[in-house]
Amino acid sequence: MKIAGRFLVIVRLLTRPGNYKVSPRFSVHVHPRITSAVCERERNISHPSSTCMAAENNLDTEVLIIGAGPTGLVLALWLKRLGVHVRIFDKASAPGTTSRALAVQARTLEFYGQLGFADELVRLGRWAIGGTIWSKGRRAAHIDFKEMGSGISPYPYALIFPQDQHERLLIDRLSQLGAFVERGKELLELEECDDRVRVKIRNSDGTEEICTTAYLAGCDGARSIIRKQLNIGFPGGTYEHLFYVADVEATGETLNGGLNIVFEQADFLVVFPLKDDGQVRFIGTVRDTSVGEDNLSWASVDQGIITDLRTDVERVNWFSTYRVHHRVADHFRKGRSFLLGDAAHIHSPVGGQGMNTGIGDAVNLAWKLAAVLRGKAKVEVLESYELERIAFARRLVATTDRAFTTVTSGSPLARLMRLRIVPLVAALLFSSRRLRRLLFCTISQVGVNYRHSTLSRGRTGAVHAGDRLPWVKQATHDANGDNFAPLQSLNWQLHVYGSATPQLCSLSAGWNLPMHVFPWNAEMKQKGLERDAIYLVRPDGYIAVAAGPNESETLETYLAEIMLSVDNAKTSLPGHESSSHSEAR
Ligand SMILES: Cc1cc2nc3c(=O)[nH]c(=O)nc-3n(C[C@H](O)[C@H](O)[C@H](O)COP(=O)(O)OP(=O)(O)OC[C@H]3O[C@@H](n4cnc5c(N)ncnc54)[C@H](O)[C@@H]3O)c2cc1C
Repeated sequence: MKIAGRFLVIVRLLTRPGNYKVSPRFSVHVHPRITSAVCERERNISHPSSTCMAAENNLDTEVLIIGAGPTGLVLALWLKRLGVHVRIFDKASAPGTTSRALAVQARTLEFYGQLGFADELVRLGRWAIGGTIWSKGRRAAHIDFKEMGSGISPYPYALIFPQDQHERLLIDRLSQLGAFVERGKELLELEECDDRVRVKIRNSDGTEEICTTAYLAGCDGARSIIRKQLNIGFPGGTYEHLFYVADVEATGETLNGGLNIVFEQADFLVVFPLKDDGQVRFIGTVRDTSVGEDNLSWASVDQGIITDLRTDVERVNWFSTYRVHHRVADHFRKGRSFLLGDAAHIHSPVGGQGMNTGIGDAVNLAWKLAAVLRGKAKVEVLESYELERIAFARRLVATTDRAFTTVTSGSPLARLMRLRIVPLVAALLFSSRRLRRLLFCTISQVGVNYRHSTLSRGRTGAVHAGDRLPWVKQATHDANGDNFAPLQSLNWQLHVYGSATPQLCSLSAGWNLPMHVFPWNAEMKQKGLERDAIYLVRPDGYIAVAAGPNESETLETYLAEIMLSVDNAKTSLPGHESSSHSEAR
């Protein structure tokens, strides 16, 4: 009996999904699939009154993503590239057909560069080149976005690309990796039991099924059922104004290829260029709601402000109204379930940040889940997801809230601000190179950093651990060789700008950690990098460790604390192998 009992304990330990460190260099990952039978048997024997829903159909995926908006799709893409078994469900029978988020920020394009399709998006979209601020029917200031981020990012602009087309492109890319959105599947309930999450799904034909997954990703939008099921609060508020969005065909002075921001006594309007000439997007406030919110149409929009812009609307292709909220979930994680995108944070569309922030969440979580599932990182790494992303979301919501209140408030002070002060300040801001660059770093999200994270260690020169790896355009002798090219592997890697010490070379070989040594040049210094210093770069392009040339023990300690093994997977895109500079192992 005693021996049998011990045997049972060993079997139970070995069959719990997770990571088992056998030696400092070797770990075993137990896949949740292996545990299914044991889990069921254990539950039946020892917890006969378990509240777990009965498993009728055990889908047993590693990550189940609920919601195929941009957040869920990017999460699926990144996880698939890292070889994770993923399923993605959406209750909608077809992808969205409305343009919603137009602005694709530079940081999102950099992530897409890692996935290998940024250039395609750039080709399909339209650069935001600049804009005009209108005040009381007059052009009050011109703002120039051209080259704002020159030298900072390979994509020194914001791109205009409608969300429906964007989602279609992501779906297409996902299908190239052999994954498909499973439509007409709505999550109704969820429950975490031991080593898995069980969810109840309603199919489009009304049937219900139970699915199990090691991790659940709630990418199910602002009204997230997952957030509600997890009892996670969503504090914040809703602005009093009702907004409209209209994609129109028009002629006139706002069809100038740029952004037009219009301030009036009582109204606020932004006119965005769309890809096709002759088409623009209007976002403004609706003051007259006397017909009832459900009956509003283009006819309810005050046409005076549009006439003042000397613009004629010939056809309205899409009209919708919406309320703007500002909320951040109290937590982004509970046990094995995570909240991402609009499910975790919503805010005003000022600055075009919403969708881009969701994509940033997805990239942040994807490599961590993959690392834990593959037994490369300790499970504690998952705690850093909320720590890193919630801080940014809270800052963002506070900033967009202040900006939005200024442009929409009816108070005399706010009116003075938007009619007189904002045009002046904007013109000044955009004429200063330093301020333009600062603005670019903020709006493009390339300035987002995780310096406060438990995953960030050290500082060398101007670069802190937690910063996005600074972009060095000319990092190799090859004219097109920048230091972002190796990031396409989606793997951990060492970067050295100058030369690497023998200790670092042997550490890199010992941990099977690719090392990219770039010949030192002036651009690197200008970007704040330090010659010969050690930079450990995470799969999402953020610096995990920044240490001096002779501090390889700092790196060794970090790897031993955080990682179980690096053992990078072969994930390079075909034809996109690491760049031609020296790579040591
Ligand atoms: C008019 C407008 C303009 C905007 N402009 C911008 C902009 O310029 N830039 C920007 O960055 N952002 C903008 N946004 C915000 C942007 O559209 C959202 O931030 C973005 O769609 C969020 O993506 P998501 O994937 O997190 O959620 P969503 O796009 O909301 O996707 C959620 C998905 O989950 C599915 N789902 C929900 N519940 C369930 C369930 N129980 N089971 C299964 N599936 C479920 C839904 O069908 C949906 O497909 C704008 C929004 C609006 C409305």
